[in-house]
Amino acid sequence: MTGLVDSFSRRINYMRVSVTDRCDLSCIYCTDRSAPHLRHDDILRYEEIEQVIRAAARLGVMKVRLTGGEPLMRLHLHRLVEMLAGIEGIDEVSMTTNGTHLARHAAELKAAGLKRVNISLDTLKADRFRHITGEDRLRDVLRGIEAAGRAGLNPVKLNMVVLRGVNDDEVLDFARRTVTDVWHVRFIEHMPFVNSTSRANGVVPVADIIRTIEASLGSLEPCFPGSGNGPAKYFQLPGATGTLGFIGAVTECFCAECNRFRLTADGGLRPCLLDDDEIDLKGPLRSGATTEELEQLILRAATLKQKQHHLGDEGIPDKRRMRQIGG
Ligand code: SAM
Repeated sequence: MTGLVDSFSRRINYMRVSVTDRCDLSCIYCTDRSAPHLRHDDILRYEEIEQVIRAAARLGVMKVRLTGGEPLMRLHLHRLVEMLAGIEGIDEVSMTTNGTHLARHAAELKAAGLKRVNISLDTLKADRFRHITGEDRLRDVLRGIEAAGRAGLNPVKLNMVVLRGVNDDEVLDFARRTVTDVWHVRFIEHMPFVNSTSRANGVVPVADIIRTIEASLGSLEPCFPGSGNGPAKYFQLPGATGTLGFIGAVTECFCAECNRFRLTADGGLRPCLLDDDEIDLKGPLRSGATTEELEQLILRAATLKQKQHHLGDEGIPDKRRMRQIGG
């Protein structure tokens, strides 16, 4: 096989790019509130990210997802979108966002070439939103969801991390919205990073979430939305136009189908979210590496990609926070 293929014959065609480690929310399961932020100089400039993606595209990467931290904390993000969307071989630039600033930016991002967004939303209750995120911004996120739809960033997918004893009683409320509001909701198992402030109560398995939904709202029919190229399995409730996705990050290992790399905000190329192996690209970029040299480093990263993560109940022994790696 040619192109970017790892030691287990998995083709890598998708890159998640963290554009900053900063976020305006501090979710209890994601952020270590005491962890220091990267220095401004250590964060890749847009031109540097473009160089990396140009090299990756020559090796077969076709899809890029911007993430963080909160990507909309970076000024003029639409300029980066435009730069990446214009690279030969890149056929989709998308973004994962907490949605707090999306209402203001949705239209300019769409015009710049952003195809779609995933928006993180763990609760529909304002007081609980404040508890989980540390901020009173639920209304802004709901506005962001509407603005994204209006701007044509479709399908807008809503990611809910299900936390036992925190928001698991809202699964049915989210599921009903796939019928009443055409929402596309994805339930994600909480990955137990060792140092996260809220590790603990144990994962709510997607199998249990499915049972809860079917017991109250009817049988789920499998469906295959064209936009899904990741680990989610999709279903629909009777009469729904929206979809329900389930990502069993802990109980259903999907490493065998993994097609992605991650680029951290400070230029670490990471073959796996859950493994601390990284290849530094910032040093070479700032020493004038050519596209061919970057390609060689990206190919080397493919040889480091492990067959499978080692996520278990004991948690992930992370050196890096989720907001630094890029979720
Ligand atoms: N700020 C953006 C956002 O909120 O979508 C992008 C970065 S955030 C780290 C990306 C996604 O990772 C969010 O949907 C968040 O809920 C998820 N996430 C963070 N920590 C997680 C964990 N321990 N387990 C599962 N998902 C997690």
